[in-house]
Amino acid sequence: MSRVEAIRLEGVYKRYPGVVALDGISLRVFEGEYVCVIGPSGSGKSTLLKCIAGIVEPDEGDVYLWGRRVNGVPIEERGVGLIFQEILLFPHMTIRGNVAYPPVVRGTPKAEELVREVLSTLNLELRARSMPDELSLGEQQKAAIARALASGTRLLLMDEPYGSMDARVATELRHEVRGLVKDLGLTVVHVTHNQEEAMAVADRIVVMRRGRVEQVGAPLELYLRPKTLFVARFIGGENNFLEC
Ligand code: ADP
Ligand code: MG
Repeated sequence: MSRVEAIRLEGVYKRYPGVVALDGISLRVFEGEYVCVIGPSGSGKSTLLKCIAGIVEPDEGDVYLWGRRVNGVPIEERGVGLIFQEILLFPHMTIRGNVAYPPVVRGTPKAEELVREVLSTLNLELRARSMPDELSLGEQQKAAIARALASGTRLLLMDEPYGSMDARVATELRHEVRGLVKDLGLTVVHVTHNQEEAMAVADRIVVMRRGRVEQVGAPLELYLRPKTLFVARFIGGENNFLEC
């Protein structure tokens, strides 16, 4: 069975004055895959996500979504769902209003059903009539993710989505979100500086360092067979190294 390429980057460069944020990135993400991007602060994770989303245009190189070259295509035409650490809900709308807001959702029975499914799977039904500020941070981010999912997007891009909530809430939410995106068959790119989070949710992990991809692999593969000391340190945390 051949796998469908949801995302493909070919030789992507992005330079800012004094820094190369992306230093020749080539990467494929397959349809239905949950990929985490990890790496230290400043390694280019957010810039990579923004190039996929269309918030940042690469200086060089190509970005493809489902086989279509999207360089120059504006974000609203790329069909991506975006989630950031800052929770972006409409404060004057109920949770249900927020989740059902994206234009493609309104009206059609199929879309209504998706809204119901997402609210129910994420256990937000009882919160549907609440206003965002009546919810905890975890529930608010859950609602923002619900809105992205209910928009019918096939590609969910998340940058440190659980960064603003406490660890216990984050652990529960990341598990629920993974379950739901797998049920819906979505493709996910999830940026995090938290290697434990990546190990817990990712099908594959992309380790970045100074604008480059250091290694790509399944969590266990990176753990057991790191190609560099950097990856071993980053994934393993407390390891013993043998100098040879
Ligand atoms: P990460 O998300 O891994 O922390 P970023 O992708 O945000 O890293 O940034 C990578 C590098 O590019 C950093 O050195 C950062 O300072 C720089 N950078 C990112 N965005 C901009 C920008 N808009 N202007 C100037 N420099 C930027
Ligand atoms: Mg970042």
